[in-house]
Amino acid sequence: MAEPISTQDRLDRIVVLIAANMVAEVCSVYVLRADQTLELYATEGLKREAVHHTTMRADEGLVGLIAREAQPLALSDAQTHPSFSYKPETGEEIYHGFLGVPVLRAGNTLGVLVVQNRTMRTYTEEEVEALQTTAMVLAEMVASGELQALVQPGADIAVRRPLYLQGVSLADGVGLGHVVLHEPRVVVKNLIAESPEAEVARLETAIKAVRVSIDKLIERGDVGDGGEHREVLETVRMFAHDQGWLRRMREVVLTGLTAEAAVERVQSDTRARLLRQTDPYLRERLHDLDDLANRLLHQLVGRDFVAAAEALPDNAILVARSMGPAALLDYQRANLRGVVLEEGGPTSHVAIVARALGLPAVGEVENVTSLVEPGDAIIVDGVAGEIQVRPRPDIEAAYAEKARLRAKRQEQYRALRDVPSVTKDGAAIELQLNAGLLVDLPHLEETGAAGIGLFRTEIQFMVAERMPSTAEQQKLYQAVLEQIGPATPVVFRTLDIGGDKILPYMSQIEEENPALGWRAIRIGLDRPGLLRSQIRALLKASAGRPCAIMFPMVATVDEFVRGRAIVDRETAHLTRHGHPLPTRIEVGVMIEVPSLLFQLDEICRRADFVSVGSNDLLQFLFAADRENRQVASRYDALSVNALRAFRTIVEAAKGTACRVSVCGEVASRPLEALALVGLGYRTLSMSPAAVGPVKAALIAAEAGALAEVLARELARADGDASLRATLSAFAEARHIPV
Ligand code: PEP
Ligand code: MG
Repeated sequence: MAEPISTQDRLDRIVVLIAANMVAEVCSVYVLRADQTLELYATEGLKREAVHHTTMRADEGLVGLIAREAQPLALSDAQTHPSFSYKPETGEEIYHGFLGVPVLRAGNTLGVLVVQNRTMRTYTEEEVEALQTTAMVLAEMVASGELQALVQPGADIAVRRPLYLQGVSLADGVGLGHVVLHEPRVVVKNLIAESPEAEVARLETAIKAVRVSIDKLIERGDVGDGGEHREVLETVRMFAHDQGWLRRMREVVLTGLTAEAAVERVQSDTRARLLRQTDPYLRERLHDLDDLANRLLHQLVGRDFVAAAEALPDNAILVARSMGPAALLDYQRANLRGVVLEEGGPTSHVAIVARALGLPAVGEVENVTSLVEPGDAIIVDGVAGEIQVRPRPDIEAAYAEKARLRAKRQEQYRALRDVPSVTKDGAAIELQLNAGLLVDLPHLEETGAAGIGLFRTEIQFMVAERMPSTAEQQKLYQAVLEQIGPATPVVFRTLDIGGDKILPYMSQIEEENPALGWRAIRIGLDRPGLLRSQIRALLKASAGRPCAIMFPMVATVDEFVRGRAIVDRETAHLTRHGHPLPTRIEVGVMIEVPSLLFQLDEICRRADFVSVGSNDLLQFLFAADRENRQVASRYDALSVNALRAFRTIVEAAKGTACRVSVCGEVASRPLEALALVGLGYRTLSMSPAAVGPVKAALIAAEAGALAEVLARELARADGDASLRATLSAFAEARHIPV
């Protein structure tokens, strides 16, 4: 294999060698092309002129059958098989004995390897195994791209073909780069063993070690680096004890393979079978088996089961089955261009971190880790939720243009960084950021935002492997405050867990309707230990500077009063024990449960500030689950009902000492932000990427004119259900970029 000869020569020599060793007159290699036909790439025994000329459709002949079913086929007389089809240019008609095996990699068919004999030969089990082992070498050659040089124009090899894969968007943006596998595949170099007995012993030792390590992970009860949950580990453990699977590996080792080659062989065969299953449950098990095989391979080749965070290329796109948030944070951000996952929905923790890092990310891309090779060119389109693997030059150029335009727009927004956020008629609008992790904080400097209007403290809890202690919470809050400096205001929202925000280490209670369930402040008031410890951590961390605390999901004034009482009690406690206190303590509330709309006067008298959580407020107002794509976008944030609700809040706060802001997603969208300013809001808190576009819109608009149009349209009893069209036209007529 290592000889410095041309690829075709090497392939030709391989078929000669195989034929000789198998005592066969013919040995041929067929490679699966992108158009799903199989092309003869090399032969010993058939006519040489047929090489690169003879092709078979995947539904044609014995070769097609093997490719389709991904199973070996041994026949003493091929010509009597119903699928036999004869290609005159090959001179095949004189052969009877036939043995073909699929060239498999990670369960995907890359081609077919065939030997043939003139006689009616019966191939033994061992011979079938031997040819399958040889096919592993060919698989490596095909997958590595080595055969690329032999590709005829318009006849791309399947495994290297461009792929378009659909997933779901996890984080916005477009990234171009090269594949880096988060859990690098172990490339098995040693296929053939000296002593099968020694290999069986190695295999047994490795299996034992893997079982112990899985038991330990389960015992510890934490979430592993890959974000594994207990259930997954339990399934993996079950497979690790599966006798059929173990027996199969032992059998393969006894045919002369090394332990690691046997693991790979068995796994590839299993994958091939499971990939042809339509039962989602069985396909799901594929992941568990992959996981186990990977652990075994790492055990056998003596590498730890960890990511290759070092040696990252400049434009890395991480591809993984799943990934924990901590693992993503371990990578060098500067080298990352995107993330692609087989699992992971938009609310997964790794998605939250990807968004905080400003990394385009796509999830739920089926089977992607086995469809790409390290180093492959890949494009992540986090806007459309799709990826392009090994893109054609025109596709790559189109995306490069898209990315360039985005970068240019970002550049324009960056230029706005120091421009005061004031409308044309002089209304100052304070733009703040929503944050939740330390990695969010540099955005303050980049965007020129005035402060943090919403710090979602639950994110620390969501990305942690176990419940953060009071000391750990305090440490994070201190780090946040230190990083942003004494003059920048920040509002810490107390834990908003429950609903879709699940802590993996907390026992889950089954609820019919979790969004309306036991969550956020409700947990805080029923189990005050957790809330008290968080408030104490916040007060301690804020010693010597102002401290703003906000309660989520408050439905009645009474709940707020009880929450505030806890703050007072903790303050008294710290005073008694001589702890330094914040210079000022302000307590506020999210307006996100509609019932509070009817107690606004009372709440504004008692709270130091209120902030509109439009994400939840709209979900409850319209009874439309914010996580359910079918209904989430059914109701417009610019509808008359929503705008009137927003207006009620800002008007209730008017003339009181209670400050008011918006921190839900509506504040992140330029047209909606204009509407909010028209209603009278002067403080908006948003995601970092929104600051530029929102500011660009605001500085081109007049607050007075906006107020007029909103007052007029909302007063009309026969008005449209949504003001979107009116407001868009308004913006367009005044050249306001929205
Ligand atoms: C909201 O509900 O609008 C909000 C800002 O909070 P979250 O999105 O964290 O629920
Ligand atoms: Mg909310």
